[in-house]
Amino acid sequence: MNKIVTLSIVATSVVSMATATEHRTPVDIMNSALSEMKAVATKTIEKKVEAKTEAKAEVKTEKKVSTDTFDYKLTPKKVADNVWCFFGALEKPTKENAGNMANNCYIKTKDGYLVMDTGPSYVFAEQAYEAMKKIEDLPVKYVVNSHNHDDHWLGNDFYKKKFGTELIGPKSINDNYKDGDQTRMYKILPKNAIKGTHIIKLDKIPKEKQIIKLGGEVFEIIPMDVKAHTGDDVFIYMPERKVLFAGDLVMNGRITSGRDGSVIGQLKALDMIKKLDWKVLVPGHGFITDKTAMDEAELYFTLTKDRILAAIENDVDSTEIVDAVPLEEFKDKAMYDILNKQNIGFAFEELEMLD
Ligand SMILES: [Zn+2]
Repeated sequence: MNKIVTLSIVATSVVSMATATEHRTPVDIMNSALSEMKAVATKTIEKKVEAKTEAKAEVKTEKKVSTDTFDYKLTPKKVADNVWCFFGALEKPTKENAGNMANNCYIKTKDGYLVMDTGPSYVFAEQAYEAMKKIEDLPVKYVVNSHNHDDHWLGNDFYKKKFGTELIGPKSINDNYKDGDQTRMYKILPKNAIKGTHIIKLDKIPKEKQIIKLGGEVFEIIPMDVKAHTGDDVFIYMPERKVLFAGDLVMNGRITSGRDGSVIGQLKALDMIKKLDWKVLVPGHGFITDKTAMDEAELYFTLTKDRILAAIENDVDSTEIVDAVPLEEFKDKAMYDILNKQNIGFAFEELEMLD
């Protein structure tokens, strides 16, 4: 067999294989099959064909994984000097948003990033980091989780694997979750978004205010000592930059979810937050980060409390309470229809007990 012919057959075969894996139209697949048949017929290049076929199989698998992965299309938004956040949709988690409905932030320091909340999946965290890497390629030294709802921390494992990041957050994550648990995100997210997501334990549970100094920045990690949005919320305050990361103690643009919370505790948390000197406040959900960021939350919980207590005074019972306290001021906010009634129900149970 002439060497040039052999080489040209190999080249044809390689070209058509490359085309086949990249586009995979029926014509390409046919071309690929034809050139493979030619190659097989040529005894002198049998071994090479074998090697190429193996290589082709490898390329195909690789390609399949990368094209199949959910693309969150993440773009970090700068909210203050050295602070970028990914803002999630004001929606419940769905197959379409793949759990990208909470906020999480990166704070850049000279020695690396501190990250507040890690999103709903490993894939999300990986893509968030890839996006931040373009701003500055720094390691993530600390992750802080605001609370135990799984749209906020299922990306933890990415940071641990990639950087050995120290994970800090509420005790309830360690107490209530272990790898293999089918939490809400595992049930809702498409497979190509939740794949590779593992639940791992946090390294540190702050029992009282903890100060972290990293690369010239100061962070106060503040755990709530009462049930507020959940039983053990954590928020971050940067006293020197006057930036606060509230987690779900504050939301705006949408109705909160009161299923694990307390109206009285929420008001206490908002009071604590209000007393701190901040210029920028990043809510757990919502896009407003200026001085008005917590106004909606404050109004929502104040009205909820005052109106339910007034209704209780008037002997309104649990079957009537939802209609008695409509909170119409909030009817245009996202998720009002899904969450407001149940919030009023939970709040009634809580406030009735105070009597
Ligand atoms: Zn949340």
